[in-house]
Amino acid sequence: MIGIYVHVPFCLRKCPYCAFYSVKFDEVTAQRYTEAVCRNIEVYAGRGITADTLYFGGGTPSLLTAEQTGSIVEKCRQVFLLDAAEITLEANPCTVDENKLNALRQVGVNRLSFGIQSADNSRLGFLGRLHDYETAVSAVETAAKVGFDNISGDIMLGAAGEDCGSIRETVRSLCSLPLKHISAYMLKIEEGTPFDNDKVKSMTADDDLMSDLYLAAVDELESHGFRQYEISNFALEGYQSRHNNKYWLGEEYLGFGAAAHSFFGGKRSCCPSDVQRFIESPVQPCEVTEESPDAAEEYILLGLRLSKGISLDRIEELFSADAAARLLRLAETYSKYGLVVVCDGVISLTTKGFLVSNSIISELIDAVQ
Ligand code: SF4
Repeated sequence: MIGIYVHVPFCLRKCPYCAFYSVKFDEVTAQRYTEAVCRNIEVYAGRGITADTLYFGGGTPSLLTAEQTGSIVEKCRQVFLLDAAEITLEANPCTVDENKLNALRQVGVNRLSFGIQSADNSRLGFLGRLHDYETAVSAVETAAKVGFDNISGDIMLGAAGEDCGSIRETVRSLCSLPLKHISAYMLKIEEGTPFDNDKVKSMTADDDLMSDLYLAAVDELESHGFRQYEISNFALEGYQSRHNNKYWLGEEYLGFGAAAHSFFGGKRSCCPSDVQRFIESPVQPCEVTEESPDAAEEYILLGLRLSKGISLDRIEELFSADAAARLLRLAETYSKYGLVVVCDGVISLTTKGFLVSNSIISELIDAVQ
């Protein structure tokens, strides 16, 4: 079964570090956008495609009304069945209240992902967030009260003034909330964003501090029972994101909306980042980004993001026995530095290895070519 992704590219205000595509929210455009999403989902009716995950990402999906969200869920049920599906909605803590959370549950949303970012209000201010920590706590607790069992929270590492003590404090605070899943991302200064200047760069964590923050956060999360299952993702037993796992396991997904990506029919594609064009096009415009992605290379590239790693048997099937042997030799070298674990025919990165995953993964891919 495939996954369905719906991109909701509206925000109340642009955060100064954010490079995701989003436009200023307005109600009329949001309604027309919802109708365009439903129209595009309908295109797949009668093709026998079934999905078991639906993910509303953004942007700020919680800006859609529960009715709009429900109309998309319903359309997906008609077309893709969504039998026993995980239905996730990313939410900004200051856009929900008890009525809205209740209504979202009624229309079928069963997983929420809150952009909390920090338990420290000065860092939330630095990040330009509209909420304070108390609002985030109230949103999570209200969500749990109205019956959401599967709630995730995002943390941002490396804002101005962050140190290992404060990041541990943020993790401890989040772990005391009714969360089952936590994502911890490193603040990256993206080119062209308002944060892309020397003053901000000098205030945010450099590479060494970021490494320390990451290791401290992972340690604190693990000590509270949140097991790392991907570079940035941690979950209590049974609460890994089913939808995001599809990305890392190389499974297919269909994306709807401006800036949404798809991996379907063996091709990777995306819809251009243009809300008006998406709304006005009878059928969602599509740009193929990769005509025939290399499944073997992607197995290493995506699989090593996961704590469970990649299997040497599978490498042998996808490449050759020689390639598997070369990969093993290189992995054993990395294991001497504590960056990789080789165990029972499986190669995986350690937490320290995740910090330099880009270079390790590209060298491992070179080794099998
Ligand atoms: S709310 Fe999220 S998507 Fe919107 S600008 Fe801020 S970080 Fe970006």
